[in-house]
Amino acid sequence: MEDAAVLETVTAAANSVKAVVEAIKAARGKAKGNAEALAALVNAQELALSLQSSLFEAKEQAFALQEENRQLRAQVREHETRALEREGYERRKMGQAVVVVHEDHPDRPLCATCFAAGRMVDLVELPLVAQVVGTHICPTCELPVKLK
Ligand SMILES: [Zn+2]
Repeated sequence: MEDAAVLETVTAAANSVKAVVEAIKAARGKAKGNAEALAALVNAQELALSLQSSLFEAKEQAFALQEENRQLRAQVREHETRALEREGYERRKMGQAVVVVHEDHPDRPLCATCFAAGRMVDLVELPLVAQVVGTHICPTCELPVKLK
């Protein structure tokens, strides 16, 4: 499950409980004169308020986990990049662009944007008539680059 989806679910649950608390308040207003019904509604209201405070806590925790997850993902990407560098890859300026190449295939440029995201994508040379913005294009992120 995505972090954002967890937060959305908890927020929706918190809103539902808020509506339940309001409904109980309204019911209490109508139960005046009936001590038994009133006592039951007071009990229900306490339970709903307790649930509401638990959901507020869950929401805060979901926020914190989302942030932690974001930081961990960034760390993983950094580690992956360093691991790839150890495997012989490097960023290199080629023409007017920065690409990633492997030391064994210096003439085979990879998309630097995709490489940073952990994907190895060969840049594809555009036909001459299409070389307006760039000479090559990444088939994945569709960014044109000028390698000449
Ligand atoms: Zn790309």
